[in-house]
Amino acid sequence: MATSTAKLQLTETRRDVDLVIDDVTMRFDAREGPVTAVENMSFAIERGEFVSIIGPSGCGKSTVFNILGGLVRGYQGQVSVDGEIIDGPHRSIGMVFQEESTFPWRTVIDNVAFPLEVKGVGKAERHRVARRFIDMVGLGGFEQRYPSELSGGMRQRVAIARTLVFEPKILLMDEPFAALDDQTRLLLGDKVLKIQQDLRQTTLLITHNITEAVQLSDRVIIMTFRPGRVKRIVDIRLPRPRTGDVVGSEAFGRYVAEIWSDLREEASRGMTDCEDGAR
Ligand code: ADP
Ligand code: MG
Repeated sequence: MATSTAKLQLTETRRDVDLVIDDVTMRFDAREGPVTAVENMSFAIERGEFVSIIGPSGCGKSTVFNILGGLVRGYQGQVSVDGEIIDGPHRSIGMVFQEESTFPWRTVIDNVAFPLEVKGVGKAERHRVARRFIDMVGLGGFEQRYPSELSGGMRQRVAIARTLVFEPKILLMDEPFAALDDQTRLLLGDKVLKIQQDLRQTTLLITHNITEAVQLSDRVIIMTFRPGRVKRIVDIRLPRPRTGDVVGSEAFGRYVAEIWSDLREEASRGMTDCEDGAR
């Protein structure tokens, strides 16, 4: 099975690199003492690529996400977007968070239109644009509902549409489907993939779900457990579109098994560490 080594050649010989994380290390002063959340992490994502980062809980995935979003400072190494080193939130990056982030007091359309409202776009125009993305995530007809009238999966779609409304070149998502049941997760995964292919968006998905990572990605970055490093990068050479046939195929199963064997080692290290109370 084709895999590439963990360390990427960051010589920029790759064409159209959108996002580069170059030798990034992040330490936190936690109550129990210093924690190295991420260590010497390097990878690059090409334009239009769908990449997932997978790793056990506590391995530093959200730290990477927050660094890429410009929300965390004080790390060593560099992050660049479009060849520009970032030191804060970048206009090309849109983020979808794990936690519920809809505004309960706003209708679906006013949630999705919110970023445009902040930018001063007039009501008719921002509603027109918001409708396009509401349709795209399959929520047409629910424009006037409030988040409390929707399911968790629908609320997460509102959050995704609200991020898409910026038309970010790069979409970062931190376990956006973690709170959802398996069926909703699969259907929403399909939807996100279709949107990503339509918009040709560069996408980085953080997940701990192997099936989801294989189903959606061009490449899967496997992280080690604390400190979080790149353990291996797996190229997923499955045809697109990834229909039900592909997901049920033997090749798909082999990727899942291969990634699980790497991940299992890390996950069990995580469990032992937590039982010992060691950092
Ligand atoms: P993941 O998203 O993979 O579950 P995180 O990136 O959230 O992992 O956390 C990685 C490690 O860094 C954990 O040990 C966590 O406790 C620690 N950590 C993350 N953020 C902070 C912070 N702001 N202060 C102190 N420790 C942190
Ligand atoms: Mg996390």
